[in-house]
Amino acid sequence: MSASAGELLQLVRSERATTRKALLTSTGLSRTTLTARLDQLLGAGLLAEGGHEDSTGGRPARQLRFDDEHAVVLAASIDTMHAEAAVTDLAGRRLAHREGELRVADGPEAVLDRIAEWFESMLAELGSLQGDHRGHPPAGPRPPGQSPGRPGGAAEAVPGSVGQPRDTAAANPGPAGRPRDTAAANPGPAARPGGAAAAEPGSTGRLRGTAAAKPGQAGGPPVCGIGISVPGPVEPGRTSVTQPPIMPGWDGYPIDTHLGPRFGAPVLVDNDANLMALGEHRARYPDSEALVVVKVSTGIGAGLVIGGEVYRGIDGGAGDIGHVRLPGHPDARCLCGSTGCLAAVAGGGALAARLTGLGLPTTSGSGVRERILAGEPAAVRLAEEAGRQVGEVLATLVCVVNPGVLVVAGDLAEPHFVAGVREVLYRRALPRSTRNLRVEIGGRGEALGGAVAMVVESVFSPAAVDQRLAARA
Ligand SMILES: [Zn+2]
Repeated sequence: MSASAGELLQLVRSERATTRKALLTSTGLSRTTLTARLDQLLGAGLLAEGGHEDSTGGRPARQLRFDDEHAVVLAASIDTMHAEAAVTDLAGRRLAHREGELRVADGPEAVLDRIAEWFESMLAELGSLQGDHRGHPPAGPRPPGQSPGRPGGAAEAVPGSVGQPRDTAAANPGPAGRPRDTAAANPGPAARPGGAAAAEPGSTGRLRGTAAAKPGQAGGPPVCGIGISVPGPVEPGRTSVTQPPIMPGWDGYPIDTHLGPRFGAPVLVDNDANLMALGEHRARYPDSEALVVVKVSTGIGAGLVIGGEVYRGIDGGAGDIGHVRLPGHPDARCLCGSTGCLAAVAGGGALAARLTGLGLPTTSGSGVRERILAGEPAAVRLAEEAGRQVGEVLATLVCVVNPGVLVVAGDLAEPHFVAGVREVLYRRALPRSTRNLRVEIGGRGEALGGAVAMVVESVFSPAAVDQRLAARA
């Protein structure tokens, strides 16, 4: 049996083996080979060899751990009317966060420029905090996608993260006169895809007092990758959306070439329902063999994680339940050009139009949510009815996939809508399909967690790590 350096890293990262002895046992490698491969990983800064964990007597083993602070991930979640972005470490802990109103219909250049400004201002902020941040002891490992806030210095210093957009950090990159570490004199590491090699001891370019060339390179750890969640269909392996009904101007637009060169990092893009499913799985249901997230906002879509991986189908169309036709609604016109689609009957956009017709002007799924939360009777009634209509389609999905967890996410993920879903689901689906099914209301922001997990799992996959190590040799 043989295990490459990348596979050894995977064993440590997943905590299946975290000592040399455990790695020898689980891989069957010779001690000499293991030592050589671990030296590569330690030399590249991917692994750190920690203190002695065991204090129960005998000779304690030194713990190996994935250095989840040697690089950062930039993640953004773009929704119809709103977007958020974060810088996280490699365990998904948020170091900085921005959010604000951003209309996807304004087109890719305006939206991506704004996201890039957020990224740059956050990196500038973190660069100026860098001296405080690295002094903290490393936190314990945590699965990617889980982001409950940060032990250690940086997050506490970030201003609150809900509500108004905060673009101010770029204009105010830290206290004046404070010595700043910067990688500006050494652009190599940040420009290297994957960034992992950058953490080689002594090579991180931390020169005191040098002005940063641009915020993205200001002193902080290198950016190893960028993950973007979009509210439209993305074909597997692509970094653009394909014929998105609610994203005018985005069809085929190269999101990666817009953002990648600016930050010297690879860009990965996926559909929001897929990334919500990945984020929910990694953060809250890591043991679930089959998990479905249905996102009901202005439109409707579902994401599937089966056997631990997002299931996309052959062309990325898996889970696109918003265009399943409901009988009896020939007048409901859908943005896809058809009529009677689930999204056109029960999506947030459809409910907003019906509320408007009842004299309650509402423009989007988030507007519908506000009316439901305010207890508006017409909105509550429509939400329950829409929940039952979505439940009709989910009953079929549940019979096909037989998931253990069904998470309802998006603007309409609230108790009235979910009550309608449950009512129909448990009545219509076979008992065998629902016996062990949990129907849950999703966390907010899981698309962002999913985007981070997508990047980390790609950049630190065994094959990617082996390739970067070979390039270093
Ligand atoms: Zn449709």
